[in-house]
Amino acid sequence: MPKILNLLAIALVLVLQASAQIALAQSEPKRAITQIAGDLYRFQNNFHFSVFLVTPEGVIVTDPINAEAAAWLEAEIDKRFGAPVKYLVLSHDHADHAAGGEVFADTALVVAHERAKAAIVGEGRPTAVPDITFSDRMTLELGGKQVELIYPGPSHSDNLIVMNFPAERVLFAVDIVTVKRMPYKDLSDSYFPGWIDALKRIEVIDFDILAPGHGVLGDKSDVTAHRHYFEALHAEVLAAARAGKSLEEMQASIRLDDYKDWGQYDAWLPLNIEGLYKRISLQRRGN
Ligand SMILES: [Zn+2]
Repeated sequence: MPKILNLLAIALVLVLQASAQIALAQSEPKRAITQIAGDLYRFQNNFHFSVFLVTPEGVIVTDPINAEAAAWLEAEIDKRFGAPVKYLVLSHDHADHAAGGEVFADTALVVAHERAKAAIVGEGRPTAVPDITFSDRMTLELGGKQVELIYPGPSHSDNLIVMNFPAERVLFAVDIVTVKRMPYKDLSDSYFPGWIDALKRIEVIDFDILAPGHGVLGDKSDVTAHRHYFEALHAEVLAAARAGKSLEEMQASIRLDDYKDWGQYDAWLPLNIEGLYKRISLQRRGN
């Protein structure tokens, strides 16, 4: 083979090997377990996070994320702690957090808000149907430890709860708040101004560490910052709607520069505006 063809063949093999490695890396989920405080741990599956609490009488697990992730987590908990999962608590009905609950349902009671159960059944979510539901507040106790389940009102979905671990001083809050990152895309399945009111109710809960369902850990100031963002966005979109502006004009003019350092600012601000524009359009009546 001429030398140039030889080199081309070697280059082709190298490119194919590199792309095969990239494909492998993309298909392997990033999973991890890290300690947050005391016996409370954080579970990561790619861009989704949940928490679990280890007690002398078993483990309280939260969002399973999906069946494969849940099976991995169940095996890791058994390997590291040798303890059965006694409760599975779902933050809300959305499939990207709630799926895979059936993995734990042989040993665990499944707990969720009453409207989460209705949505899980109604939407046919790929998870276990909750055994225990509540409407406002509920405290789970296991092995001398506690988790307070709190419904802060309609926010991101009409059934999202937050989970407070008082001894560890950690609040687990999924999708209702993130740390220095924009709310997700067009705010599907959201309620306003309920979401803002719900963040105020979270701000009066006694905790130090905020563990969100996406991204890095934070603290209570991140909840306040998220509320301030929504208050500013809501006020600007409402004022623009009252001034007769179109969605495109709002997306061109509303900047909210205080938040330009937040993750996904450029990509998701126009979608956040669109989401609020749709809701405000249905919730006002011009002259
Ligand atoms: Zn969600």
